[in-house]
Formats: sequence, structure tokens, C-alpha cells
Amino acid sequence: MCPGVFATHDAADGALARVRLPGGGVSSARLKVLADCADDLGDGALHLTSRGNLQLRGLERDSAELVKRLSDAGLLPSPAHERVRNILASPLSGLTGGFTDVSGLAAELDAAICARPELAELPGRFLFALDDGRGDVAAEGADVTWFDGVLLLAGADTGVRITDAVDALVRVASAFVAVRGTAWRVRELPDPSVLLDGPREPVALPPPPAVPIGVFDTDGGGTTIGLAPPFGRLSTAQARLLADVGPRVIVTPWRSIVLPDTANLDALVEAGLVVDPGSSSLQVSACIGRPGCAKSRADVRADAQRTLRGLPSSRRAHFSGCERRCGKPAGEHVDVVAESGGYRVDDVWVPLENVRDSLIQGSGS
Ligand code: SF4
Repeated sequence: MCPGVFATHDAADGALARVRLPGGGVSSARLKVLADCADDLGDGALHLTSRGNLQLRGLERDSAELVKRLSDAGLLPSPAHERVRNILASPLSGLTGGFTDVSGLAAELDAAICARPELAELPGRFLFALDDGRGDVAAEGADVTWFDGVLLLAGADTGVRITDAVDALVRVASAFVAVRGTAWRVRELPDPSVLLDGPREPVALPPPPAVPIGVFDTDGGGTTIGLAPPFGRLSTAQARLLADVGPRVIVTPWRSIVLPDTANLDALVEAGLVVDPGSSSLQVSACIGRPGCAKSRADVRADAQRTLRGLPSSRRAHFSGCERRCGKPAGEHVDVVAESGGYRVDDVWVPLENVRDSLIQGSGS
């Protein structure tokens, strides 16, 4: 259910390996290593995930060559903790906006997790988040979130105030390991407050901001670019371009990328990357579908692509090949699930040729 590099998942198009990028950050040098692996060992692309990680597909199962290359690049610092290093962080933190710079905290939290043997027992679905106060990753419903000094459990406000984010998040995770029983996520606990030991004063969370796509002035000068590869599929040529135009990239939980201190907009557009925040391709996401997944009833990405034209900017939709709905966004969206001959659009069956009209007019109508 939660593949890694040491234990891959068998998909219809070969083995799938997920590479954890705590906080989404990856240096240009490491991005090039990943692109080389995708070309030499996989399907020639890097696939962005809804947790700010990257996946390689079309691999040999449990490839020793992949493990060696990624270990040599420093991308697998603790084999025992590989699948529990799931950390989101506000992608624009330290660049523009926000209240507290959390850009360095993800690496600190990652090191603290790897230093605790008991945390290797966390379920692979457990998710940490560090939100700099703008409310972006706080809206992702992580198991434990540091929200500019406030502790959230399962995305809900506990009102507990904390100063040391790393210490607090690691302590909650350790407490979860001790009490979880068969629970995979904090929200499955009968009483999540057993993980807390501080005073509780509820605070209100802001609505999440828009996904950072476009050009942003960086605090202190320069520009930062937010972009998205269509359906989260980054070709290795695009990955190498990103590695060439800046020292690092940040993969967001919204299948997009932030390029700090970069101004090379034209080259990115030419490479087919979406930098227009009004682009309709940002409104539709889809699981891998056919032919990559044997469970899929349709080539959902091809079908989703056909619905883009004319979609109202307020409407967001996620296409799935089956009821598992892999990669569905955390926020409000129209649920589009493949069925024989068509799709269920918010649970109303619609023939394939009418799905686009259904989305334009309103879900399921
Ligand atoms: S939602 Fe279903 S069809 Fe799509 S990738 Fe997941 S398991 Fe496969």
C-alpha cells in the first residue's frame, strides 16, 4: 500500500518506487540522479505525488541498481525509516509570505525521525506537516501538523501551543506508535487527545491559499516560479531543465513544483510546464489509470484531458480508474470514477461523451 525504494509495488507497467522528499525539497544534483534513474531503469518520467514525493514507474521489482544509485545520492538516509519519512512543509516558506520560516525544519524533523528506532514502526500512511502560518499544508489533514506554533491532530485544531516543532511532532508520533493498536492514521483513534499533554485553547484556521502557480517576488529580491507538469508527470527532459535553472526544486503536495530564485520563465513554458495560474489543466487531476494500473477501468488521463476545454475556473475534478481514488486532492472537488462506458460524476452515472458537459454544467447533472 505504501511503496518505497527497498520494497516496490507491482503495477501493470512494472514496479513502482516512491522516493520520499521531506518537505518536498530536492537539490538539482539529486534531481538529475532521479532523472537518470527514470531514463535508465524506469519509464522515462518522474511522477509527482499528493504528498510532495516523486515516484519512478516501469522498474524491475526491488531493483538493487536503483537502491545503489539513490543511496549514493543520499536520498535513502535510513533504510529502516524509508517509508515513514512523510513530511509536508509550506513550499513558499522562506521565499515569500508566511509567518515563520519552516524551510529548514523539514530536514531537522527528518533527522529526528530517523534517529528514533521506534518511529520505524510508524505506518507508512502517517503524515507530518509543517505550516508557516499561511494555512496551505495545514489543510492537507496530516496526522500531526505544526501550524505556526499550534498543534493540529488529523487536521483539526487542538489549541495546544508549542515552540519546539520538531520535538513536539516526534513526541506525538512516538505516542501514536505506543497506542495505535491497529490504527493506521490518527483520525482512526477513538480519542486522539490521548496523544496530547498540554493546555487546549481552540484557534481558527485560515482557508487554504491557492496552489502557488505563476511568478512570485521573493522576499529580499528576485523571483520564484511555481509550475505544474500536466497530470504530475515530469519528463526527464523537463526534470533536467529544472535542475539546470536553479540549485533546488520543491515538490508540493498539489503535484506542482516551486523553483526558488528563478526567472527563466520562457524556457519552462516552452518545455510544456504550466505556469499560468488560470490554466484549466490545473483544475483536473487523475490517477495513473490505464495502462499503468491493472485495476483501472479506463485511460483516465486521456479522458480527463478531453474535459479541460471550457471548464469553469471554480470547478475542480479528480478522475479515478476505480473506487480507490488514488491521489485525490484533500480539498473540495468533483469526484469522477470510471465505470463501464462512462463515469460516475459525484455518484451519478454519465456516458463518456457527456462527462465534459456534466462537469461544465455542474457535477452529475
Ligand atoms: S484509483 Fe484505482 S485505477 Fe487509479 S491508480 Fe488507484 S488503484 Fe489504480
